[in-house]
Amino acid sequence: MTATTTDIPNPGNLIGGQWVPARSGETFENRNPADTDDLVALHAASDASDLDAAFAAASEAFPGWRATPGIARGNILYKAAEILASRVEHIARELTREEGKTLKEATGETMRAVAILRYYAGETAQPHGEMYPSASATTMLYTLREPLGVVTIITPWNFPIAIPAWKLVPAIAFGNAVVIKPASDAPLCTIRLAEALVDAGLPAGVLNVVTGSARALGDGLVTDERSVAVSFTGSDATGKIIREQATAHGKKVQLELGGKNPAIVLADADMDHALTQVINGAMMSTGQKCTATSRAIVDRAIASEFTQRLADKIGGLKVGNGLDGDTQIGPLINAAAAESVADEVAKAKSTGTNLLVGGERMASNGHSRGHFVAPALFDGVTPDSRLGQHELFGPVLGVIPVDGLDEAVAVANGVRYGLSASLFTRDLTRAMTFVREIQAGIVHVNSETAGAEPQVPFGGYKGSSSYSREQGKAARDFFTQVKTVYLDPSPA
Ligand code: ADP
Repeated sequence: MTATTTDIPNPGNLIGGQWVPARSGETFENRNPADTDDLVALHAASDASDLDAAFAAASEAFPGWRATPGIARGNILYKAAEILASRVEHIARELTREEGKTLKEATGETMRAVAILRYYAGETAQPHGEMYPSASATTMLYTLREPLGVVTIITPWNFPIAIPAWKLVPAIAFGNAVVIKPASDAPLCTIRLAEALVDAGLPAGVLNVVTGSARALGDGLVTDERSVAVSFTGSDATGKIIREQATAHGKKVQLELGGKNPAIVLADADMDHALTQVINGAMMSTGQKCTATSRAIVDRAIASEFTQRLADKIGGLKVGNGLDGDTQIGPLINAAAAESVADEVAKAKSTGTNLLVGGERMASNGHSRGHFVAPALFDGVTPDSRLGQHELFGPVLGVIPVDGLDEAVAVANGVRYGLSASLFTRDLTRAMTFVREIQAGIVHVNSETAGAEPQVPFGGYKGSSSYSREQGKAARDFFTQVKTVYLDPSPA
């Protein structure tokens, strides 16, 4: 059956509790990156006037939401979690169709958003202030955590429901009002999350969703004075602009940027386990995770066997539409991304790096309507080369042979990023050395570099983050400010 245009979702923006088209009436298309004949949704092509309405609605809603007890906010989040959970099957299919990852990954990601809602619902019932002794016998000295106000959230397309959830849910839980702009490549999941919150009874204006290109929305997205903080996940280049604009306007700013994450495999590792974990870290979600493994730093004693086994397995991965049950690797997000990854592979090859498998655009046998690149493995990558330093954001893994742990850690640390890192070993002393010496915000021993449980802090060292952390209790630090109270009921 062919979908008619009336079957195509066209939700519009969420502004002041209403789903409304862009004021211009313009929309843009969002197509399945595995099959560009599949029109997933139409979205509001917003401009500065829509954004203005969103900031106005958030400003109006903030005082009431701030005054709402945390427990009552949490009850809405619990309800939204149940609503979202009841829609997982439907949303996961949409997620696969808009972003491309496999249905299994999409289902897991949607369930993660449910878990995030539950976690922060619970956080609203936790103590968030501290009691201190005072030098005065009659003074009660304590701290409160209060919301910041209206906050702006700008998200990427690679985790189109989990990242919006892990930013906007704590923002709301702690009493802020939100304007969120999802990435234009995959806005529908943010809208599905917002629908669950609205259906759960979130008051009008507490959450506002504005879709459209950052260029059309204008600098006001970051600089509008009604918003006091910006939380962003995306590319380095955009992060730099946002950091400068937000800082110039005196705002609190949180950035999650790239990674060039290493997995170190020592000679004593369980090789079968390391193989599976390194491949999962490098290739799941088509390598489009900021925590993806892009460098396998392997002890020379096992490098040739390990690399050969990697090549065999990577060459056998089934690439296709994420809706097909046997697909292991989906497409890249768009044509430009597929071109860019294939170009980087060609460039590395032309400079003499040994490409063992993959790296080419796939255009036949069911791949003709999607943005597919065959998962690639390079051998003998030089740490200082472009392939060893530059984030590709695609299914490309490079093996860097080293002699022992010390060299491995030096190579692992020799990049400007520091998001996540893995070590595979059976030796506890080496594991402890790695944990101590590695420059990364998320460290794994005997598990892949990707993965983020909602109850713990998430973020990187060096160029990967802005020294703040997301998720878990760390999100509270960003989305609240501290008030210190000296309360003396009976001054002498
Ligand atoms: P990617 O699209 O590859 O994830 P970007 O950093 O370009 O990486 O985009 C991440 C998010 O930032 C998207 O929602 C995008 O629309 C938005 N964005 C891009 N440029 C700007 C900008 N100058 N100011 C604010 N947001 C921007």
